[in-house]
Amino acid sequence: MAKEKDVSKKKFFQCEKCGHGYLDKETAIKCYLFCEKNETCSTKITKKAVHFPSLPTHLSNIDEK
Ligand SMILES: [Zn+2]
Repeated sequence: MAKEKDVSKKKFFQCEKCGHGYLDKETAIKCYLFCEKNETCSTKITKKAVHFPSLPTHLSNIDEK
């Protein structure tokens, strides 16, 4: 038997800047604010993502702080 994954069925909140999707709105907003300010993603935030953009736009310069 194959197990169903919840993530694909659940609604998620997407950062409009980078396209990452999060289960909670708060994290999506954090991501959006970070992306807007820094023009890059925070790996601390994106590791919580449940949806990843198929075409990353500005992910080449990830800064681990
Ligand atoms: Zn983002």
